[in-house]
Amino acid sequence: MSASPKFFEQVNRYVDKAATLLSLPDGLLQQIKACNAVYHVSFPLRRDDGTIEVIHGWRAHHSQHRLPVKGGIRLSVHANEDEVTALAALMTYKCALVDIPFGGAKGAIKVDKSKYSDGELERIIRRYTFELVQRNCIGPGVDVPGPDMGVGPREVAWIADTYIALKAGAEVSAAGCITGKPLALGGVRGRLEATGRGVYFGLREAVAQADDMQRLGMTTGLDGKTVVVQGLGNVGYFSAKYLSEDGARIVGIVEREGAIYNAAGIDIEQAYAHRVAGGSLLDLEADVKLTGTDGIAGLEWPCDILLPAAIENVLHADNAPRVQARIVAEGANGPTTADGGRILSERGIVQLPDLYLNSGGVTVSYFEWLKNLSHVRFGRMEQRFEASSNARLLRAVEELTGSKFNQSVFDQVAVGASELDIVNSGLEDTMVSGFHQMRELARAKNADFRSAALATAVQKVANAYHERGIFP
Ligand code: NAD
Repeated sequence: MSASPKFFEQVNRYVDKAATLLSLPDGLLQQIKACNAVYHVSFPLRRDDGTIEVIHGWRAHHSQHRLPVKGGIRLSVHANEDEVTALAALMTYKCALVDIPFGGAKGAIKVDKSKYSDGELERIIRRYTFELVQRNCIGPGVDVPGPDMGVGPREVAWIADTYIALKAGAEVSAAGCITGKPLALGGVRGRLEATGRGVYFGLREAVAQADDMQRLGMTTGLDGKTVVVQGLGNVGYFSAKYLSEDGARIVGIVEREGAIYNAAGIDIEQAYAHRVAGGSLLDLEADVKLTGTDGIAGLEWPCDILLPAAIENVLHADNAPRVQARIVAEGANGPTTADGGRILSERGIVQLPDLYLNSGGVTVSYFEWLKNLSHVRFGRMEQRFEASSNARLLRAVEELTGSKFNQSVFDQVAVGASELDIVNSGLEDTMVSGFHQMRELARAKNADFRSAALATAVQKVANAYHERGIFP
Protein backbone atom coordinates (compact mmCIF):
# COMPACT_ATOMS: atom_id res chain seq x y z
CA MET A 1 0.00 0.00 0.00
CA SER A 2 2.78 2.44 0.74
CA ALA A 3 4.31 4.37 -2.15
CA SER A 4 7.62 4.99 -0.33
CA PRO A 5 7.97 1.96 1.94
CA LYS A 6 11.41 2.88 3.14
CA PHE A 7 10.87 6.12 5.06
CA PHE A 8 10.11 4.58 8.48
CA GLU A 9 12.95 2.14 7.87
CA GLN A 10 15.27 5.09 7.13
CA VAL A 11 14.32 6.71 10.44
CA ASN A 12 14.97 3.46 12.29
CA ARG A 13 18.34 3.05 10.58
CA TYR A 14 19.27 6.46 11.92
CA VAL A 15 18.00 5.45 15.39
CA ASP A 16 20.04 2.23 15.32
CA LYS A 17 23.15 4.21 14.46
CA ALA A 18 22.46 6.73 17.24
CA ALA A 19 21.76 3.95 19.74
CA THR A 20 25.37 2.78 19.40
CA LEU A 21 26.24 5.92 21.40
CA LEU A 22 24.02 4.67 24.26
CA SER A 23 23.80 1.48 26.24
CA LEU A 24 20.10 0.61 26.26
CA PRO A 25 18.69 -2.91 26.67
CA ASP A 26 17.66 -4.17 23.22
CA GLY A 27 14.01 -4.70 24.26
CA LEU A 28 13.71 -1.10 25.35
CA LEU A 29 15.24 0.15 22.10
CA GLN A 30 12.80 -2.01 20.09
CA GLN A 31 9.86 -0.57 22.09
CA ILE A 32 11.10 2.99 21.55
CA LYS A 33 11.41 2.40 17.79
CA ALA A 34 8.04 0.64 17.34
CA CYS A 35 4.97 2.62 16.27
CA ASN A 36 2.25 2.00 18.87
CA ALA A 37 -0.76 2.39 16.56
CA VAL A 38 -1.74 3.55 13.07
CA TYR A 39 -5.37 4.30 12.27
CA HIS A 40 -6.50 4.24 8.65
CA VAL A 41 -9.84 5.88 7.93
CA SER A 42 -11.75 6.08 4.67
CA PHE A 43 -14.95 7.96 4.04
CA PRO A 44 -17.05 9.19 1.14
CA LEU A 45 -16.92 12.74 -0.19
CA ARG A 46 -19.79 14.09 -2.28
CA ARG A 47 -18.06 16.30 -4.81
CA ASP A 48 -19.60 19.52 -6.08
CA ASP A 49 -20.62 17.79 -9.33
CA GLY A 50 -22.60 15.17 -7.35
CA THR A 51 -20.14 12.28 -7.82
CA ILE A 52 -18.86 10.32 -4.81
CA GLU A 53 -15.16 9.82 -4.09
CA VAL A 54 -13.54 7.76 -1.32
CA ILE A 55 -10.99 9.71 0.72
CA HIS A 56 -8.24 8.00 2.72
CA GLY A 57 -6.60 9.39 5.85
CA TRP A 58 -4.27 8.22 8.60
CA ARG A 59 -3.29 9.08 12.14
CA ALA A 60 -0.22 7.40 13.61
CA HIS A 61 0.59 7.32 17.32
CA HIS A 62 4.26 6.44 17.45
CA SER A 63 4.92 6.78 21.16
CA GLN A 64 2.73 7.50 24.17
CA HIS A 65 5.59 7.66 26.67
CA ARG A 66 4.24 11.18 27.29
CA LEU A 67 0.68 12.38 26.73
CA PRO A 68 -0.81 13.97 24.78
CA VAL A 69 0.83 12.86 21.56
CA LYS A 70 1.49 15.61 19.06
CA GLY A 71 2.10 15.91 15.33
CA GLY A 72 0.85 17.78 12.29
CA ILE A 73 -1.72 16.76 9.72
CA ARG A 74 -0.72 17.03 6.07
CA LEU A 75 -2.72 17.07 2.88
CA SER A 76 -0.70 15.29 0.25
CA VAL A 77 -1.43 13.13 -2.73
CA HIS A 78 1.68 11.10 -1.81
CA ALA A 79 0.48 10.39 1.76
CA ASN A 80 0.68 6.77 2.85
CA GLU A 81 0.96 4.70 5.99
CA ASP A 82 4.74 4.40 5.86
CA GLU A 83 5.22 8.14 5.55
CA VAL A 84 2.82 8.97 8.36
CA THR A 85 4.48 6.39 10.64
CA ALA A 86 7.96 7.70 9.93
CA LEU A 87 6.87 11.30 10.51
CA ALA A 88 5.20 10.28 13.80
CA ALA A 89 8.48 8.70 14.90
CA LEU A 90 10.34 11.90 14.05
CA MET A 91 7.86 13.78 16.24
CA THR A 92 8.64 11.49 19.19
CA TYR A 93 12.35 12.23 18.90
CA LYS A 94 11.90 15.93 18.11
CA CYS A 95 9.71 16.56 21.17
CA ALA A 96 12.09 14.60 23.40
CA LEU A 97 15.17 16.41 22.11
CA VAL A 98 13.84 19.89 22.89
CA ASP A 99 12.06 18.87 26.10
CA ILE A 100 8.50 19.25 24.85
CA PRO A 101 6.48 16.86 27.07
CA PHE A 102 4.54 15.17 24.26
CA GLY A 103 4.61 11.79 22.56
CA GLY A 104 4.89 11.57 18.78
CA ALA A 105 2.05 11.42 16.25
CA LYS A 106 1.30 12.41 12.67
CA GLY A 107 -1.73 12.56 10.42
CA ALA A 108 -2.37 12.76 6.71
CA ILE A 109 -5.19 12.94 4.21
CA LYS A 110 -4.41 11.66 0.73
CA VAL A 111 -5.62 14.46 -1.54
CA ASP A 112 -4.19 16.88 -4.05
CA LYS A 113 -5.47 20.08 -2.48
CA SER A 114 -5.48 21.99 -5.76
CA LYS A 115 -8.10 19.61 -7.24
CA TYR A 116 -10.85 20.40 -4.71
CA SER A 117 -13.08 23.43 -4.15
CA ASP A 118 -12.95 25.19 -0.78
CA GLY A 119 -16.31 23.63 0.10
CA GLU A 120 -15.07 20.12 -0.75
CA LEU A 121 -11.90 20.62 1.30
CA GLU A 122 -13.94 21.80 4.26
CA ARG A 123 -16.15 18.69 4.05
CA ILE A 124 -13.06 16.44 3.85
CA ILE A 125 -11.37 18.07 6.85
CA ARG A 126 -14.48 18.13 9.03
CA ARG A 127 -15.24 14.46 8.29
CA TYR A 128 -11.62 13.46 8.98
CA THR A 129 -11.88 15.28 12.32
CA PHE A 130 -15.10 13.43 13.11
CA GLU A 131 -13.29 10.13 12.39
CA LEU A 132 -10.47 11.18 14.77
CA VAL A 133 -12.98 12.06 17.51
CA GLN A 134 -14.66 8.66 17.08
CA ARG A 135 -11.31 6.93 17.72
CA ASN A 136 -10.20 9.16 20.60
CA CYS A 137 -7.44 10.40 18.30
CA ILE A 138 -7.88 14.08 19.06
CA GLY A 139 -8.30 16.02 22.31
CA PRO A 140 -6.21 18.26 24.58
CA GLY A 141 -5.16 15.32 26.81
CA VAL A 142 -4.76 12.57 24.23
CA ASP A 143 -3.68 13.79 20.82
CA VAL A 144 -3.09 17.37 19.70
CA PRO A 145 -2.58 17.72 15.94
CA GLY A 146 -1.18 20.80 14.24
CA PRO A 147 -0.52 22.08 10.73
CA ASP A 148 1.81 20.44 8.23
CA MET A 149 2.09 20.51 4.43
CA GLY A 150 -1.04 21.92 2.84
CA VAL A 151 -2.65 22.72 6.22
CA GLY A 152 -2.79 26.31 7.41
CA PRO A 153 -4.86 28.34 9.89
CA ARG A 154 -8.04 27.91 7.81
CA GLU A 155 -7.91 24.10 7.89
CA VAL A 156 -6.88 24.14 11.56
CA ALA A 157 -9.89 26.36 12.31
CA TRP A 158 -12.22 23.81 10.64
CA ILE A 159 -10.72 21.04 12.79
CA ALA A 160 -10.99 23.06 16.02
CA ASP A 161 -14.53 24.14 15.21
CA THR A 162 -15.63 20.56 14.47
CA TYR A 163 -14.06 19.24 17.68
CA ILE A 164 -15.54 22.01 19.83
CA ALA A 165 -18.98 21.52 18.23
CA LEU A 166 -18.88 17.75 18.86
CA LYS A 167 -17.85 18.26 22.48
CA ALA A 168 -20.60 20.86 22.87
CA GLY A 169 -19.09 22.61 25.87
CA ALA A 170 -18.29 19.40 27.76
CA GLU A 171 -14.56 20.18 27.76
CA VAL A 172 -13.46 23.47 29.24
CA SER A 173 -10.11 23.43 27.39
CA ALA A 174 -11.45 22.09 24.08
CA ALA A 175 -9.50 24.75 22.15
CA GLY A 176 -6.35 22.84 23.12
CA CYS A 177 -7.40 20.01 20.76
CA ILE A 178 -5.19 21.38 17.97
CA THR A 179 -2.49 24.02 17.54
CA GLY A 180 -1.79 26.47 14.75
CA LYS A 181 -5.21 28.06 15.26
CA PRO A 182 -6.06 31.62 14.20
CA LEU A 183 -5.78 34.01 17.15
CA ALA A 184 -9.53 34.39 17.48
CA LEU A 185 -9.88 30.64 18.10
CA GLY A 186 -7.16 30.50 20.78
CA GLY A 187 -4.02 30.59 18.63
CA VAL A 188 -0.79 32.08 19.88
CA ARG A 189 1.11 34.98 18.32
CA GLY A 190 4.20 33.80 16.45
CA ARG A 191 3.05 30.24 15.58
CA LEU A 192 2.69 30.80 11.84
CA GLU A 193 6.34 31.81 11.41
CA ALA A 194 7.71 29.69 14.32
CA THR A 195 9.32 26.86 12.35
CA GLY A 196 11.15 29.25 10.03
CA ARG A 197 12.19 31.46 12.94
CA GLY A 198 13.49 28.35 14.73
CA VAL A 199 15.44 27.33 11.61
CA TYR A 200 16.99 30.80 11.65
CA PHE A 201 17.91 30.60 15.37
CA GLY A 202 19.41 27.13 14.86
CA LEU A 203 21.51 28.20 11.87
CA ARG A 204 22.60 31.41 13.58
CA GLU A 205 23.84 29.36 16.52
CA ALA A 206 25.58 26.80 14.28
CA VAL A 207 27.52 29.41 12.30
CA ALA A 208 28.49 31.26 15.51
CA GLN A 209 30.78 28.35 16.59
CA ALA A 210 34.25 29.54 15.61
CA ASP A 211 35.97 26.11 15.71
CA ASP A 212 33.20 24.41 13.70
CA MET A 213 33.30 27.15 11.08
CA GLN A 214 37.07 27.04 10.90
CA ARG A 215 36.90 23.30 10.18
CA LEU A 216 34.49 24.04 7.32
CA GLY A 217 36.71 26.84 6.00
CA MET A 218 33.98 29.39 6.71
CA THR A 219 33.79 32.61 8.67
CA THR A 220 31.42 32.92 11.63
CA GLY A 221 28.09 34.71 11.35
CA LEU A 222 25.31 34.69 8.77
CA ASP A 223 26.39 37.88 7.07
CA GLY A 224 27.18 37.16 3.41
CA LYS A 225 26.48 33.41 3.66
CA THR A 226 24.80 32.12 0.50
CA VAL A 227 21.67 29.97 0.74
CA VAL A 228 19.72 27.75 -1.66
CA VAL A 229 16.23 26.95 -0.38
CA GLN A 230 13.90 24.23 -1.64
CA GLY A 231 10.21 24.97 -1.07
CA LEU A 232 8.93 28.50 -0.66
CA GLY A 233 6.05 27.51 1.61
CA ASN A 234 5.65 28.16 5.32
CA VAL A 235 9.01 26.79 6.48
CA GLY A 236 11.07 27.78 3.43
CA TYR A 237 9.72 31.30 3.16
CA PHE A 238 10.02 32.26 6.83
CA SER A 239 13.47 30.64 7.17
CA ALA A 240 14.72 32.50 4.10
CA LYS A 241 13.12 35.74 5.30
CA TYR A 242 14.84 35.75 8.71
CA LEU A 243 18.15 34.52 7.28
CA SER A 244 18.19 37.29 4.69
CA GLU A 245 17.17 39.89 7.29
CA ASP A 246 20.31 38.86 9.21
CA GLY A 247 22.58 39.31 6.19
CA ALA A 248 22.47 35.94 4.43
CA ARG A 249 22.02 36.00 0.63
CA ILE A 250 19.35 33.73 -0.87
CA VAL A 251 20.92 32.76 -4.21
CA GLY A 252 18.67 29.89 -5.26
CA ILE A 253 15.07 28.73 -4.90
CA VAL A 254 13.86 25.27 -5.95
CA GLU A 255 10.11 24.81 -6.30
CA ARG A 256 7.56 22.61 -8.06
CA GLU A 257 7.64 24.65 -11.28
CA GLY A 258 11.44 24.71 -11.51
CA ALA A 259 14.35 26.55 -9.93
CA ILE A 260 16.11 29.90 -10.20
CA TYR A 261 19.66 30.93 -9.30
CA ASN A 262 20.89 34.49 -8.97
CA ALA A 263 24.42 35.02 -7.67
CA ALA A 264 23.63 38.59 -6.59
CA GLY A 265 20.74 37.36 -4.42
CA ILE A 266 16.99 36.92 -4.84
CA ASP A 267 14.54 39.31 -3.20
CA ILE A 268 12.71 36.76 -1.05
CA GLU A 269 9.71 38.99 -0.32
CA GLN A 270 9.21 39.67 -4.01
CA ALA A 271 9.57 35.99 -4.93
CA TYR A 272 7.14 34.90 -2.21
CA ALA A 273 4.55 37.59 -3.03
CA HIS A 274 4.77 36.71 -6.72
CA ARG A 275 4.09 33.02 -6.03
CA VAL A 276 1.31 33.70 -3.53
CA ALA A 277 -0.36 35.82 -6.23
CA GLY A 278 -0.28 32.76 -8.50
CA GLY A 279 2.91 33.59 -10.44
CA SER A 280 5.82 31.28 -11.21
CA LEU A 281 9.39 31.63 -9.98
CA LEU A 282 10.43 31.31 -13.60
CA ASP A 283 8.89 34.75 -14.33
CA LEU A 284 11.56 36.37 -12.13
CA GLU A 285 14.95 37.72 -13.28
CA ALA A 286 17.70 35.13 -12.67
CA ASP A 287 21.14 34.05 -13.90
CA VAL A 288 20.02 30.44 -14.33
CA LYS A 289 16.55 28.91 -14.67
CA LEU A 290 15.66 25.22 -14.65
CA THR A 291 12.17 24.17 -15.69
CA GLY A 292 9.82 21.65 -14.09
CA THR A 293 11.37 18.55 -12.58
CA ASP A 294 14.82 19.62 -13.88
CA GLY A 295 14.69 22.13 -11.02
CA ILE A 296 15.75 19.43 -8.55
CA ALA A 297 19.32 19.92 -9.86
CA GLY A 298 19.17 23.27 -8.05
CA LEU A 299 20.02 21.35 -4.86
CA GLU A 300 23.51 20.98 -6.35
CA TRP A 301 24.09 24.69 -6.93
CA PRO A 302 27.06 26.31 -5.15
CA CYS A 303 26.13 27.82 -1.79
CA ASP A 304 27.19 27.82 1.85
CA ILE A 305 23.85 26.55 3.19
CA LEU A 306 21.42 24.21 1.43
CA LEU A 307 17.99 24.43 3.06
CA PRO A 308 15.59 21.69 1.92
CA ALA A 309 12.19 22.87 3.20
CA ALA A 310 9.68 21.04 1.01
CA ILE A 311 9.40 17.24 1.07
CA GLU A 312 11.29 14.13 2.18
CA ASN A 313 14.02 12.03 0.50
CA VAL A 314 15.30 14.75 -1.85
CA LEU A 315 18.96 14.24 -0.89
CA HIS A 316 19.99 10.68 -1.63
CA ALA A 317 22.87 8.48 -2.79
CA ASP A 318 22.56 9.78 -6.39
CA ASN A 319 22.82 13.52 -5.78
CA ALA A 320 24.65 13.70 -2.41
CA PRO A 321 28.07 13.39 -4.13
CA ARG A 322 27.27 16.55 -6.14
CA VAL A 323 25.95 18.77 -3.32
CA GLN A 324 28.22 21.84 -3.10
CA ALA A 325 26.88 23.36 0.13
CA ARG A 326 28.94 23.05 3.30
CA ILE A 327 25.94 22.99 5.61
CA VAL A 328 22.68 21.14 4.92
CA ALA A 329 19.97 22.65 7.08
CA GLU A 330 16.95 20.34 7.22
CA GLY A 331 13.87 22.56 7.33
CA ALA A 332 11.70 19.76 5.94
CA ASN A 333 11.08 16.47 7.70
CA GLY A 334 13.24 13.62 6.39
CA PRO A 335 14.79 15.38 3.38
CA THR A 336 17.96 13.24 3.52
CA THR A 337 17.97 9.46 3.08
CA ALA A 338 20.28 7.40 5.28
CA ASP A 339 22.61 6.73 2.32
CA GLY A 340 22.50 10.39 1.27
CA GLY A 341 23.32 11.46 4.82
CA ARG A 342 26.24 9.05 5.03
CA ILE A 343 27.71 10.41 1.78
CA LEU A 344 27.27 14.03 2.90
CA SER A 345 29.00 13.21 6.21
CA GLU A 346 31.88 11.46 4.43
CA ARG A 347 32.29 14.60 2.32
CA GLY A 348 32.56 16.71 5.48
CA ILE A 349 29.22 18.46 4.90
CA VAL A 350 27.58 19.37 8.22
CA GLN A 351 23.94 18.34 8.53
CA LEU A 352 21.64 20.10 10.95
CA PRO A 353 19.00 17.40 11.35
CA ASP A 354 15.27 17.94 10.97
CA LEU A 355 14.41 16.74 14.45
CA TYR A 356 16.46 19.58 15.85
CA LEU A 357 16.26 22.30 13.21
CA ASN A 358 12.53 22.37 12.50
CA SER A 359 11.47 21.85 16.12
CA GLY A 360 10.47 25.52 16.43
CA GLY A 361 7.00 24.67 15.14
CA VAL A 362 6.22 22.12 17.83
CA THR A 363 7.86 24.31 20.46
CA VAL A 364 5.50 27.20 19.80
CA SER A 365 2.62 24.73 19.41
CA TYR A 366 3.41 23.64 22.95
CA PHE A 367 3.16 27.29 24.06
CA GLU A 368 -0.20 27.54 22.29
CA TRP A 369 -1.47 24.41 24.07
CA LEU A 370 -0.30 25.82 27.42
CA LYS A 371 -2.16 29.05 26.64
CA ASN A 372 -5.32 27.06 25.86
CA LEU A 373 -5.08 25.08 29.11
CA SER A 374 -4.42 28.21 31.18
CA HIS A 375 -7.05 30.31 29.36
CA VAL A 376 -4.86 33.40 29.52
CA ARG A 377 -2.72 35.24 26.98
CA PHE A 378 1.03 35.21 27.72
CA GLY A 379 1.98 38.55 29.23
CA ARG A 380 -1.55 39.50 30.21
CA MET A 381 -0.85 39.41 33.95
CA GLU A 382 2.54 41.07 33.96
CA GLN A 383 3.01 43.24 30.87
CA ARG A 384 1.84 46.53 32.41
CA PHE A 385 3.46 45.79 35.74
CA GLU A 386 6.83 45.22 34.03
CA ALA A 387 6.42 48.41 31.99
CA SER A 388 5.76 50.53 35.08
CA SER A 389 8.58 48.82 37.05
CA ASN A 390 11.01 49.61 34.24
CA ALA A 391 9.76 53.22 34.11
CA ARG A 392 10.24 53.55 37.89
CA LEU A 393 13.79 52.24 37.51
CA LEU A 394 14.59 54.80 34.80
CA ARG A 395 13.18 57.62 36.97
CA ALA A 396 15.27 56.45 39.93
CA VAL A 397 18.40 56.57 37.72
CA GLU A 398 17.37 60.05 36.56
CA GLU A 399 17.07 61.20 40.18
CA LEU A 400 20.43 59.71 41.14
CA THR A 401 22.32 61.11 38.15
CA GLY A 402 20.40 64.38 37.87
CA SER A 403 20.13 63.94 34.10
CA LYS A 404 17.03 63.14 32.03
CA PHE A 405 16.58 60.28 29.56
CA ASN A 406 14.93 61.32 26.34
CA GLN A 407 11.53 59.89 25.42
CA SER A 408 13.00 57.26 23.04
CA VAL A 409 14.81 55.60 25.99
CA PHE A 410 11.49 55.38 27.86
CA ASP A 411 9.81 54.03 24.71
CA GLN A 412 12.41 51.24 24.42
CA VAL A 413 12.99 50.34 28.07
CA ALA A 414 9.77 51.17 29.93
CA VAL A 415 7.85 48.34 28.30
CA GLY A 416 6.63 44.92 29.36
CA ALA A 417 6.94 41.73 27.33
CA SER A 418 4.06 41.10 24.94
CA GLU A 419 2.82 37.62 24.04
CA LEU A 420 4.95 37.68 20.88
CA ASP A 421 8.06 38.71 22.86
CA ILE A 422 7.52 35.86 25.33
CA VAL A 423 6.86 33.28 22.60
CA ASN A 424 9.91 34.33 20.56
CA SER A 425 12.11 34.38 23.65
CA GLY A 426 10.97 30.86 24.64
CA LEU A 427 11.57 29.71 21.08
CA GLU A 428 15.07 31.24 20.94
CA ASP A 429 15.97 29.68 24.29
CA THR A 430 14.75 26.26 23.15
CA MET A 431 16.67 26.39 19.86
CA VAL A 432 19.88 27.64 21.45
CA SER A 433 19.88 25.15 24.32
CA GLY A 434 18.81 22.29 21.98
CA PHE A 435 21.76 23.09 19.72
CA HIS A 436 24.27 22.97 22.56
CA GLN A 437 22.87 19.69 23.99
CA MET A 438 23.23 18.14 20.55
CA ARG A 439 26.69 19.62 19.94
CA GLU A 440 28.07 18.60 23.32
CA LEU A 441 27.16 14.94 22.79
CA ALA A 442 28.45 15.10 19.20
CA ARG A 443 31.82 16.35 20.46
CA ALA A 444 31.98 13.96 23.41
CA LYS A 445 31.26 10.90 21.23
CA ASN A 446 32.86 12.15 18.02
CA ALA A 447 29.49 11.73 16.32
CA ASP A 448 27.57 13.68 13.70
CA PHE A 449 24.78 16.05 14.76
CA ARG A 450 22.00 13.71 13.64
CA SER A 451 23.27 10.78 15.68
CA ALA A 452 23.88 13.05 18.66
CA ALA A 453 20.40 14.61 18.44
CA LEU A 454 18.73 11.22 18.07
CA ALA A 455 20.79 9.66 20.85
CA THR A 456 19.86 12.56 23.17
CA ALA A 457 16.21 12.11 22.26
CA VAL A 458 16.19 8.30 22.54
CA GLN A 459 17.85 8.50 25.97
CA LYS A 460 15.12 10.92 27.14
CA VAL A 461 12.36 8.59 25.91
CA ALA A 462 14.13 5.71 27.69
CA ASN A 463 14.24 7.83 30.85
CA ALA A 464 10.47 8.39 30.58
CA TYR A 465 9.93 4.61 30.46
CA HIS A 466 12.20 4.22 33.51
CA GLU A 467 10.23 6.93 35.37
CA ARG A 468 7.01 5.01 34.74
CA GLY A 469 8.55 1.83 36.10
CA ILE A 470 8.58 0.12 32.73
CA PHE A 471 11.98 -1.28 31.75
CA PRO A 472 13.49 -0.41 35.15
P1 NAD B 1 3.96 24.15 2.76
O1 NAD B 1 2.88 23.38 2.07
O2 NAD B 1 3.64 25.47 3.37
O3 NAD B 1 5.19 24.41 1.76
C1 NAD B 1 5.81 23.39 1.03
C2 NAD B 1 6.44 24.03 -0.19
O4 NAD B 1 7.20 23.05 -0.89
C3 NAD B 1 5.40 24.57 -1.17
O5 NAD B 1 5.76 25.86 -1.61
C4 NAD B 1 5.44 23.54 -2.31
O6 NAD B 1 5.11 24.11 -3.57
C5 NAD B 1 6.88 23.10 -2.25
N1 NAD B 1 7.06 21.77 -2.83
C6 NAD B 1 6.27 20.69 -2.69
N2 NAD B 1 6.77 19.66 -3.41
C7 NAD B 1 7.90 20.11 -3.97
C8 NAD B 1 8.87 19.52 -4.82
N3 NAD B 1 8.75 18.26 -5.23
N4 NAD B 1 9.92 20.27 -5.22
C9 NAD B 1 10.05 21.55 -4.81
N5 NAD B 1 9.16 22.16 -4.02
C10 NAD B 1 8.10 21.45 -3.61
O7 NAD B 1 4.57 23.13 3.81
P2 NAD B 1 5.45 23.49 5.09
O8 NAD B 1 4.55 23.57 6.25
O9 NAD B 1 6.38 24.60 4.76
O10 NAD B 1 6.26 22.11 5.26
C11 NAD B 1 7.45 21.86 4.52
C12 NAD B 1 8.23 20.77 5.22
O11 NAD B 1 8.54 21.20 6.55
C13 NAD B 1 7.51 19.43 5.38
O12 NAD B 1 8.47 18.39 5.34
C14 NAD B 1 6.92 19.52 6.78
O13 NAD B 1 6.70 18.24 7.34
C15 NAD B 1 8.05 20.25 7.49
N6 NAD B 1 7.67 20.93 8.72
C16 NAD B 1 6.71 21.88 8.74
C17 NAD B 1 6.42 22.55 9.93
C18 NAD B 1 5.41 23.67 10.01
O14 NAD B 1 5.27 24.27 11.08
N7 NAD B 1 4.74 24.02 8.91
C19 NAD B 1 7.07 22.19 11.12
C20 NAD B 1 8.07 21.21 11.07
C21 NAD B 1 8.36 20.60 9.86
